[in-house]
Amino acid sequence: MTAKSIKAKYNEQNFKLRQRGIKLVPYKAPCCGATLEGQLAGLGEEWEAVSTCPECGELYMKYTSHTQITADTLATR
Ligand SMILES: [Zn+2]
Repeated sequence: MTAKSIKAKYNEQNFKLRQRGIKLVPYKAPCCGATLEGQLAGLGEEWEAVSTCPECGELYMKYTSHTQITADTLATR
């Protein structure tokens, strides 16, 4: 996938979430420092996922809880 289509998908997904009335919270991408937005996890849930940065195409780890989203670079390189 090209960086452009990753960004288009990211924008479309967040647009759909907003339309459904889901609150998005900002977090900082560890790769390029871009401010990204995402959906919080449900109460008592924690999500951990490898994500692709919509700004620069780098992979990073995204940790989502019920209260916040944090992101960190992948340890392996
Ligand atoms: Zn990035």
